[in-house]
Amino acid sequence: MTNSHQILDGKTTSLEIQKEIKVAVEAQIKNGGKQPHLAAVLIGQDAASKAYVGHKVKACAKVGFKSTLIQRESTLSEAELLDIVNELNNDDSVDGFIVQLPLPENINAQLVLEAISPGKDVDGFHPENVGRMSLGLPTFLPATPSGILTLLERYGIKTQGMHAVVVGRSDIVGNPMAALLRRNAEPGNCTVTQCHSRTLDLKAHTLRADLLVTAIGKPNFITADMVKEGAVVVDVGINRIADSNRKSGSRLTGDVDFDNIAHKCSWITPVPGGVGPMTIAMLLKNTLQASNDKE
Ligand code: NDP
Repeated sequence: MTNSHQILDGKTTSLEIQKEIKVAVEAQIKNGGKQPHLAAVLIGQDAASKAYVGHKVKACAKVGFKSTLIQRESTLSEAELLDIVNELNNDDSVDGFIVQLPLPENINAQLVLEAISPGKDVDGFHPENVGRMSLGLPTFLPATPSGILTLLERYGIKTQGMHAVVVGRSDIVGNPMAALLRRNAEPGNCTVTQCHSRTLDLKAHTLRADLLVTAIGKPNFITADMVKEGAVVVDVGINRIADSNRKSGSRLTGDVDFDNIAHKCSWITPVPGGVGPMTIAMLLKNTLQASNDKE
């Protein structure tokens, strides 16, 4: 049976952080500072991307930020997108901005990310910011892994000495997650194993995890026999699967078989309501930081 105290509740924690940000924004404006302003660039009609950007824009309004949504069709050329990035880089009213990924195939995403001014790169994807993160220097930390660290921190989970296993090596989740967990800091100070699709005997690794972070993108891929008793499990995956019991005919699920794993864990994140809301809170935090840096 799952106990409610096993749940790392990202939804509630995110709302707490958003309240704190709102208070900080009000104080900033009262003291003559500027209203933080996040811009988001959305290219094409991808339903998931539209939903993510929609959540981000809504969250901005909730905490008192200004937001600007720039939407273009997928026929937009790379040069036109680079022009938009350039305009946002030079627009003093914009503190930070994101270009929602994935981008259409005709656009080189890396080129676009590198064109974003590092001081406005609130997603933390620019190579300069990735380098600063790796060196432990102040920077914008990528929202998903930093949201996970914050969630662990707010639940008082000490990661020092843990064997952390990260499954996934994307630049937005797996890689920065592994880098942050192994740094000399709390949360951090883990001994990290990183796995991917070419890993042999994945189960042998996951079974040794005190902290298991999965960023794979395959529904219920991690099964109960792959998880150590008492592990902390953080499920980053967001997968849509068919569900005839739902009006919509589908529902979201993570990478781990939550129903059969939860009872084995000391802590586990649900999907939805775990890592996803934390990601948004961290984006807002980075934007607030960007507006402070400009003061
Ligand atoms: P990617 O597709 O970029 O990366 C997936 C990773 O999983 C790859 O490194 C891949 O290995 C690895 N992988 C795939 N199959 C296996 C396997 N059989 N065994 C071991 N490893 C495997 O995805 P992202 O990192 O961008 O996202 C991962 C998931 O997290 C997705 O479901 C996404 O929707 C979700 N997500 C959730 C966020 C949130 O806020 N909650 C934010 C961002 C993403 P290889 O490198 O070898 O291909």
